Amino acid sequence: MEIVFHGVRGSVPVGSPLMDRYGGSTTCLSMQLDATSHLVLDCGTGLRGFEDHIGTEARHFTVLLSHYHWDHLMGLPFFSPLYEPEATFDFYGSPWESHTVEEGVAGAFEPPWFPVPLSATAAAKNYLAVPDVPWQVGPLTISAARLHHPQGVTAYRIDTPTGSVVFATDVERGEKESDERLATLAAGADVLIHDAQYSPDDYDDHRGWGHSTWQDAVAAAKDADISHLVLSSHDPQRTDEDVDRLLDEARQHFPNTDAAQVGMAIDV
Ligand SMILES: [Zn+2]
Repeated sequence: MEIVFHGVRGSVPVGSPLMDRYGGSTTCLSMQLDATSHLVLDCGTGLRGFEDHIGTEARHFTVLLSHYHWDHLMGLPFFSPLYEPEATFDFYGSPWESHTVEEGVAGAFEPPWFPVPLSATAAAKNYLAVPDVPWQVGPLTISAARLHHPQGVTAYRIDTPTGSVVFATDVERGEKESDERLATLAAGADVLIHDAQYSPDDYDDHRGWGHSTWQDAVAAAKDADISHLVLSSHDPQRTDEDVDRLLDEARQHFPNTDAAQVGMAIDV
């Protein structure tokens, strides 16, 4: 099975010829489960690009949301299947304080910030709190862990019949319990997709903002005995050449590292 990157940028979408190669859309990944079913990880503006990959037949989407910050939901109001009565969505997320998963998703649609409330969209929608134990989605086994980020973030491990991938975006390394939960979740996985928004030089000015450096991502990969590390959530100011430099540095410490790029697909 393939996991495909449609959006790789952190915080806010960007558009510049200097950023075209890695891409400017915010976080969204997908896996096709069968002819009409898809797993979607986060609904950043990359969700628009994902729409180009799917057919027009009846469709079912299982959506794993890391959290509800705008850059991870911005694409959803503009995703056509949400307005189709024959489409179905299962949204998985973690409730936050007194807010339910439905409230977390619906916040992106509240008038006057968006004209159509989520409840008025035509697709059938289920809202599910992330279970405490692994669960099945088609051929996949999914498990999750809560990590360190403002308002919290959920990382997901996806075990396919042939491999495993962990999606850990928007996590700031350095909180012991969070680091240990990620190491347990990701132990022995084939692929770790990890936040690497900052360079070590950037980090001092962004401590507490909820993101990691490439050094943190490498440490997380080593902690969990990962085979293949993918750096993601690129800083919106980072050009393609900047990402190349950051990747070169990371590879000196963890050779099997890549930087997430819109259009990139990894077999798992
Ligand atoms: Zn965030």
